[in-house]
Amino acid sequence: MMTKRRKSREIFIGKIGAGATHPISVQSMTNVPTDDTKSVINQICRLASAGCEIARVSVPDKNAVEALPEIIGKSPMPVIADIHFDYRLALAAIDAGVHGLRINPGNIGSRKRVEMVAKAAGEAGIPIRIGVNAGSLEKPLLEKYGGPTPRAMVESALNQARILEDCGFRAIKVSLKASDVTSTVEAYRLIAKKCDYPLHLGITEAGTAFTGTIKSAVGIGILLAEGIGDTIRVSLSADPVEEVRVGWEILKSLGLRSRGVSVISCPTCARSVFDVVAVSMEIERRLADIVAPLKVAIMGCAVNGPGEAKLADVGFAGLKKGKAALYTKGKRIRTVSTNDAIEIIEETVRKLVC
Ligand code: SF4
Repeated sequence: MMTKRRKSREIFIGKIGAGATHPISVQSMTNVPTDDTKSVINQICRLASAGCEIARVSVPDKNAVEALPEIIGKSPMPVIADIHFDYRLALAAIDAGVHGLRINPGNIGSRKRVEMVAKAAGEAGIPIRIGVNAGSLEKPLLEKYGGPTPRAMVESALNQARILEDCGFRAIKVSLKASDVTSTVEAYRLIAKKCDYPLHLGITEAGTAFTGTIKSAVGIGILLAEGIGDTIRVSLSADPVEEVRVGWEILKSLGLRSRGVSVISCPTCARSVFDVVAVSMEIERRLADIVAPLKVAIMGCAVNGPGEAKLADVGFAGLKKGKAALYTKGKRIRTVSTNDAIEIIEETVRKLVC
């Protein structure tokens, strides 16, 4: 059973609200050099088409900062600058017009520097995400806790948040990322009880598209089901568009958001009268551009087929060799040939959404 969503403070990243009653939003991060503006903008546009709502870009040097105004100007979504080590880059990114900053408490430098960043961000009206990463925790905390434990991560985030709050800065978001699921879940559970900051969820360095998807779905899924989390990012060693697709599937599977075509397909067995696997995969690929939420059931035979097909917006259920029943909105429309499955399903879905 889903737990009621945790009450969190409202912040805005450009036009996107996070926390409070705002929908949980999907973020991703570009992975091309930030000073290659053409590639960054192309990638951000591809991310937007997949449903990404906030884009983060790394700002490792002066060249990256100089690229920001053009990126921000052409981006269809808010842009967050990811800053490590150099507070001057954070100040320059704010000047360039970013919609949010992500800094890491372990490596941004002295309290004075953090205060300067907080003051500038406050004046610009943008939020700061404190992005604690198990791999870069402050030394004293590592010594105190004997390693990058969930408690150490929480203390790091709250210490940093206190510095920002002491400067009168309140637009704070927090993330606590470890590469193992159990530590991450534990850290978020702990911090969720200790503050009202909106929380950005993710399993960092989760791995390749296959393992990373599973780890992220488990970790982010557990927390969301417990009512924890306001924005999410699935980290994959893959095209970031995949991160967005996985992020949406996690939210959709918990009924937290709806977007695009959800294919409900059976695992197939000896009763299947057509190639459900090939048809389902091709339908998912062909209909990836549809934004309207829609269920499409593709079922191999008459055992469970008609039931699922009736519950979907469009249903295709095998009957006997070469034949299937086509359903729309719960009604059986006609009997069709399974040879034309892909074309018939695509056409029926597109008619419904146009
Ligand atoms: Fe097998 Fe039919 Fe169930 Fe598909 S719907 S798994 S083909 S019994």
